Amino acid sequence: MSLQVLSVASEAVPLVKTGGLADVVGALPEALAPHGVTMTTLLPGYPTVTATLGKKPKVLHRWESLLGEPARLLAGQIGAGRNGEQALLVLDAPGLYARDGGPYGDATGRDWGDNWKRFAAFGRAAADVAGGVIKGLAFDLIHAHDWQAGMALAYQRFAPAGPQLPSVITIHNMAFQGHYGADLFPALGLPPQAMAIDGIEYHGGISFLKAGLASASRITTVSPTYAREIREPGFGMGLEGLIRARASDVSGIVNGIDTGVWNPAGDSELKAAYSAKALGKRAANKRALEAEFGLEKGDGPLFIVISRLTWQKGMDVLLEAADHLVGIGARLALLGSGDAALESGFHAAAARHPGRIGVRIGYDEALSHRMLAGGDAILVPSRFEPCGLTQLYGLAYACVPVVSRTGGLADTVIDANLAARQAGVATGVQFDGVRWQTLADALTRTVQLFGDPAAWRSLQRAGMRADFSWSGSGLAYADLYKSLTIAP
Ligand code: ADP
Repeated sequence: MSLQVLSVASEAVPLVKTGGLADVVGALPEALAPHGVTMTTLLPGYPTVTATLGKKPKVLHRWESLLGEPARLLAGQIGAGRNGEQALLVLDAPGLYARDGGPYGDATGRDWGDNWKRFAAFGRAAADVAGGVIKGLAFDLIHAHDWQAGMALAYQRFAPAGPQLPSVITIHNMAFQGHYGADLFPALGLPPQAMAIDGIEYHGGISFLKAGLASASRITTVSPTYAREIREPGFGMGLEGLIRARASDVSGIVNGIDTGVWNPAGDSELKAAYSAKALGKRAANKRALEAEFGLEKGDGPLFIVISRLTWQKGMDVLLEAADHLVGIGARLALLGSGDAALESGFHAAAARHPGRIGVRIGYDEALSHRMLAGGDAILVPSRFEPCGLTQLYGLAYACVPVVSRTGGLADTVIDANLAARQAGVATGVQFDGVRWQTLADALTRTVQLFGDPAAWRSLQRAGMRADFSWSGSGLAYADLYKSLTIAP
């Protein structure tokens, strides 16, 4: 008998995505199938999600009033990977989710004022499903993701609809916590004891993420280093005390990448496909990329950036170091969007250094593939990075990652220090602390490594050998689920 897991999340590719969370939730069912786990994903019924259900979707359950809103649970399918389509449940509550804009806010990016209700109702519905209110739909474990699913575990614990299931919550980014005022507590329909220090209460208000962290059987985050970092104030964002208190229940499992999508040998987006045995073919991709960004040819490395332009990603520090980058003979192609000041800052840097710095503001997945195939090194100078995906794409594409030593970046890149180079295992460049000087030094070190073709090839090949497919991480999640559901 396979283990039945209910995955509760606010995003999943290919239906709705604002970040890495969606990639993980979308990939998990297929990653777990080979390990005896059948995963069913529960999503809110945003328009892009309900549109996939066909004209007459199967109605599994009706709520007359889910926090005051009429709602239905609909059955669907998600994805079409190697193991076929996977089971999907959709919470259809038009009063909460049927609106234009993003999953959390309107078209201008402003958060919906009733997000507390949208995700409390989502949690209540998840707890009802986990508790067995739907005949013939039974689960062994509930896996909640991020603050939007945190309340599922609080409802399960304080107001269960049936037997309580073992549970896991995964933190994809501690910076988003779902904080609201205590005045909303009566509307949540929880008993008074839930509003306590080991429940959903947080500094006099309510925290949805804390609700999940305090109620889950186990807590995971998306890299072992981030799992340690969030015990500290700078990373725990106010929840470090809870993480320290539950340290023995907290672990890190690195995200995988979809090797069907991110594979330079079979990437139709590229001028020239290539493998580790034929890295010389990358040259054609580099020339094409230089042309696309209006860059001059040069002897130094071509750095690329594919990123949200935010403080978290260290983009302000990169902007300060842009003149140094050009000064040491390197070039930069940047794709990203985010803070207006950073967008205009990079435009200004490109104007100061025509032919040396090229900038594209926007989101363009196809271009990101071409950049990884044509760039020499990918820069990821994040101040914190729960896992990070672009450095993993860099490894797969022989685009050497240059990263700050934090979170998943620390766990997935091996710095080219003397020992690692002698052992032939180095895959990139790491630096400590995101400041002008540390980044400038890392850029200089990268230029020097690039100047030694044998050393550079060795970095590229070792990176391509590293396996960051889902196979290892799928097994790690399956082992965790089994440890919670199988009696010793
Ligand atoms: P985060 O989720 O914090 O933004 P990750 O590295 O985990 O960071 O995931 C970011 C994802 O979004 C990656 O798949 C990356 O390639 C993609 N991405 C980010 N910015 C852009 C962009 N401007 N154009 C195309 N893809 C982008």
